[in-house]
Amino acid sequence: MPSNPAGGASVTMTSDPVTSRVDDRLLADLEAVVGEQHVRHTPGDVHPYSRDATPLFSSAPDVVVFPASTQEVAAVLRLATERRVPVVPRGAGSNLCAATVPVRGGIIMVLTRMEQIVEISAVELLAVVQPGVTTAMLADAAAARGLLFAPDPGSRIVSTVGGNVAMCAGGLRGLKYGVTRNYVLGLEVVLATGEVLRTGGRLWKDVAGYDLTRLLTGSEGTLGVITEITTALLPMPQTALTGVAYFPSLAHAGRAVSGIITDGVVPATLEFLDQKCIGAVEDYAHLGLHRDAGALLLFGDDGAPDVVKRNLQRMADRCAAEGAIDITVGGAVAESEALLEARRCSLPALSRLQPLTVLEDATVPRPRIAEMVDRIDQIAERYNLLIATFGHAGDGNLHPTACINPADGDAAVRVERAFGEVFQAALDMDGTITGEHGVGAAKLPYLQARLGADQMALLRRVKAAFDPAGILNPGKLGS
Ligand SMILES: Cc1cc2nc3c(=O)[nH]c(=O)nc-3n(C[C@H](O)[C@H](O)[C@H](O)COP(=O)(O)OP(=O)(O)OC[C@H]3O[C@@H](n4cnc5c(N)ncnc54)[C@H](O)[C@@H]3O)c2cc1C
Repeated sequence: MPSNPAGGASVTMTSDPVTSRVDDRLLADLEAVVGEQHVRHTPGDVHPYSRDATPLFSSAPDVVVFPASTQEVAAVLRLATERRVPVVPRGAGSNLCAATVPVRGGIIMVLTRMEQIVEISAVELLAVVQPGVTTAMLADAAAARGLLFAPDPGSRIVSTVGGNVAMCAGGLRGLKYGVTRNYVLGLEVVLATGEVLRTGGRLWKDVAGYDLTRLLTGSEGTLGVITEITTALLPMPQTALTGVAYFPSLAHAGRAVSGIITDGVVPATLEFLDQKCIGAVEDYAHLGLHRDAGALLLFGDDGAPDVVKRNLQRMADRCAAEGAIDITVGGAVAESEALLEARRCSLPALSRLQPLTVLEDATVPRPRIAEMVDRIDQIAERYNLLIATFGHAGDGNLHPTACINPADGDAAVRVERAFGEVFQAALDMDGTITGEHGVGAAKLPYLQARLGADQMALLRRVKAAFDPAGILNPGKLGS
């Protein structure tokens, strides 16, 4: 059974016939497919797979399998469909919405043994990789060929490309470069029945049929298991520079963000920290940040050196015009990297404040960021919680982060209620409950408020078309 100490918004249990039915016969069949050493089923062995990076959610699987090929994935899925046993695909388990928590038990299928970079083509500007390749491995291999893999989640050192595609991960470059879906050209995917499909391919232009590649991107392991990805690459920008501006308040920073975009610059970096984050980061990393500022805005661009320099000056001018109290523009790549550190270490800095951090990603239209942060602060005060907010200002993608001590009475319940109100506030502002972290089990209770009953019903019909027995990641999207 799933456990969610926060109660309330826990996973919804239904009378779905797909439940854990792992017996000795199934274990023997799984071992015959992937090899005995790649099947784990003792309580101690499966325990680490009860959780992902989402605090407050856990549920133990019965068995964990580590397939090494598309054929092995297909054979496991055929067995699972025959026996009506849930299968939860898993990469690094770094998602933040309980997407890999096996809420109905069953099989966790870990794809990290499939870690080959099959091809990098500088001529076609693409890479073909297996799903267990980490984001950083692909980015580094592309960089070695003078190419950029643009999706840039903060978890890139551990997250897998399969997980990035399944979550449609975003990151720090979203405004200028888009998110994972903008780069996925083709997929090899195994359906729950064991059928192997290839969607899309190597082409930037291909409109033959429904766009199944896009449908599978962001499907959170509920429609199929991705076994190969063809992803677009870009030429590596010649240089990248960053600046930082401090403002008396987030409202001032918000006006600067709107002004920068209206001025016609599409920055590669446009990130903000609120006052609480600035203090936490300064205490943690001693970067010399102005802790009395109301907000900090990081702005940056990449490309040809003269264009980058000009764009940074335009952004700095706009920040000054909107009341920035101090502005520094990194004149060299190393200085820029040091400035970016303020953003990169926000989460570790906040994690030190209390034993548990709950990181969310409500998203609103860009001009409403300051209003949204105000609402978050009011909600935090009402629930007596420490919630600091940082995020991708260019995308309106906010990461309000609650720092709590679970031993503190009903702190987990208060967090859950507070974030329920935060999501509602985002929806009230024409925003969404998640900009990049996904729905998983954690946000399923809020999904209908975002999509409406008709779209929810259509999602369920799509799910049934791909996975008639409902074995793939049940209790999540499409349930
Ligand atoms: C410190 C930190 C920073 C982060 N920063 C960002 C960020 O900037 N932007 C962002 O968007 N996210 C971010 N994340 C969230 C997370 O890292 C991403 O969602 C990432 O894409 C998950 O990859 P993973 O390999 O860990 O996938 P997992 O967590 O293992 O799985 C995620 C989902 O994908 C499914 N899945 C995994 N592999 C496959 C496959 N081969 N086929 C089908 N389904 C599959 C799973 O079933 C699950 O539903 C961050 C997380 C942390 C902990």
